[in-house]
Amino acid sequence: MKRSIATVCLSGDLRQKIDAVSHANYDGIEIFENDLLLFEESPAVVRQMTEDAGLDIVALQPFRDFECMPVEKMKKNFDRAERKFDLMEELGTDTLLLCSNVSPLAVNSRERAVADLYELAERAKKRGFKLGYEALAWGRYVKDFQDAWEIVRTADHSNLGIILDSFHIFSRGKDLSLINEIPGDKIALVQVADAPWLDMDVMQWSRHFRCFPGQGDFPMLEFMEAILRTGYEGYLSHEIFNDEFRSSPCKATAIDGMRSLLWLEQEVSRAEPDLVVGLPNQEGVLLPEASLDKVEFIEFAVDPESSDELVTYLSRLGFVKTHHHKSKDVSLYRQGDISIVLNEEPDSFAQSFYLVHGISVCAIAYSTPDAKGMAERAAFFGYPKFGSNVDAGEMEIPAIRGIGGKLIYFVQENQSGDRFFDIDFVEEKEIKPVMPDLATSSLLEVDHIVEGISVSEFLSTSLFFRILFGLEIAQPQDLIDPYGIVVSRTATSKNKKIRIPFNMSRSWGSSTARFMDVHKGSGVQHIAFTCDDIFSAAERVGQDLMLPIPENYYDDLEARFTLEDELSEKLRKYNLLYDQNESGTLIHFYTREINGIFFEVLQRNKYGNYGETNAHVRMAAQARLRKSQ
Ligand code: MG
Ligand code: MG
Repeated sequence: MKRSIATVCLSGDLRQKIDAVSHANYDGIEIFENDLLLFEESPAVVRQMTEDAGLDIVALQPFRDFECMPVEKMKKNFDRAERKFDLMEELGTDTLLLCSNVSPLAVNSRERAVADLYELAERAKKRGFKLGYEALAWGRYVKDFQDAWEIVRTADHSNLGIILDSFHIFSRGKDLSLINEIPGDKIALVQVADAPWLDMDVMQWSRHFRCFPGQGDFPMLEFMEAILRTGYEGYLSHEIFNDEFRSSPCKATAIDGMRSLLWLEQEVSRAEPDLVVGLPNQEGVLLPEASLDKVEFIEFAVDPESSDELVTYLSRLGFVKTHHHKSKDVSLYRQGDISIVLNEEPDSFAQSFYLVHGISVCAIAYSTPDAKGMAERAAFFGYPKFGSNVDAGEMEIPAIRGIGGKLIYFVQENQSGDRFFDIDFVEEKEIKPVMPDLATSSLLEVDHIVEGISVSEFLSTSLFFRILFGLEIAQPQDLIDPYGIVVSRTATSKNKKIRIPFNMSRSWGSSTARFMDVHKGSGVQHIAFTCDDIFSAAERVGQDLMLPIPENYYDDLEARFTLEDELSEKLRKYNLLYDQNESGTLIHFYTREINGIFFEVLQRNKYGNYGETNAHVRMAAQARLRKSQ
């Protein structure tokens, strides 16, 4: 299957766009006419640029408001079309994308549409061109692909085909089985666009919220299967209008677009092995499936001067230094099934990370039964590999660059069932809690890791988690911060052991924006641990490290839920937050921040959410604390 992208998907000028598309290894490019209008070079130069870049110009788009205009306007429309044909000749493309008429002047006549398109196809044929007719969801009379197909089918001209655009089809709630009626050779082009499900004006939805397959909620696999069943063998082309893409570096967007197509092809081949997709990897075989099991360790970049503060937090949370690295200045703090690594090694990746970000999470390791397979997936999707210095006898752990440049490790137990710390670390001679008089350990596992993400990396992040990690991505929800809105999505593994809420904010004062400012870019903002005794965990952390919660919250809580007095008093006493829904209850608390990062401890009782209802209380408390400092 050949892959293309429309220039409208990318930021920058036409030269930058062509460069980005070529760099990301597409076969073709759709030229959005506005990009040409605003460009200083002639169409002939653009043709040369695309040839030099090894790209076909798949189509010139869009030609608007053509068919069914009042008779006196049609001559002008045909003249206009001839001018586009001249332009196509200069560009060296053979396909013109024609969208259904949106003009209020258009007449409602299928016969006219058929006749006008037939005549235009005749003219195109004389010049050696083809027309692709696309129904816009907000067309005046032709609004969906069934209408468009009726017209194309009736006109029955060899140089006229239909353009199928997944956005227009799904946004009109169309039944995909109708695509079966269309022979593959009557499809001029297939445009793929995903989007979140939104209840809003279709044109606004299309112009601002389209995204690459894998970033939205549309059933793109079903769409692809329907297309392939028609026997279509032409280009699959991205046509995405998106506000984030417009403000993101075009190379990164083009690469994400390619990843999205590769992923779609892989997923379709897996779901429907009989459909000929033409798998793009060298062997033409399926990739290993994503197979992450759980968080193996979280690694902080620290330096000797700053590590004390973090160690204080960890100790109060109940962590104990259990191991140190065989050869490096790296310590391991453990508790339950949680491993926190503190990396102070000079001249290391962690130290470079520390210099930029301060105390920060510089790596996360995930355990997997197939580390090699995960590394293969990462290489296939073009996520950059990271090579580190491994001494003899140490575990060689495949690593890639994740969000915000931190490292992602894929860790696999060896055959004798050794964990990473059995191999690379030495156990401390005497394992003693730093604060022995405090209650014993009660934290169990990492519950979730929250990433603060810049606006321009938000969609890219969903793609990363979806296609590389194989996580389910929930629909975005708005969290209300006293200084703005935080948009949050959650990536979750099938076994629910990996949960990664990721947040972005356009509001400069919000919790996420302040974190991005302090941390200098995207990264881990908060880490939540589960426990089986939230009250003793809170007792141990102590008021001075805990995020204070206002009394009013508890008054409201008592009004909302019928809580027993004893529970209610304890919640107040320990600054605990509470939520309850049909499935269960949650009690949780937050610590104060270290360099913008904070911890959460939670106790779930059959409760599957994240206490989102309390997010605004937490964000207000953090903002208040910030102001008082
Ligand atoms: Mg389209
Ligand atoms: Mg949380």
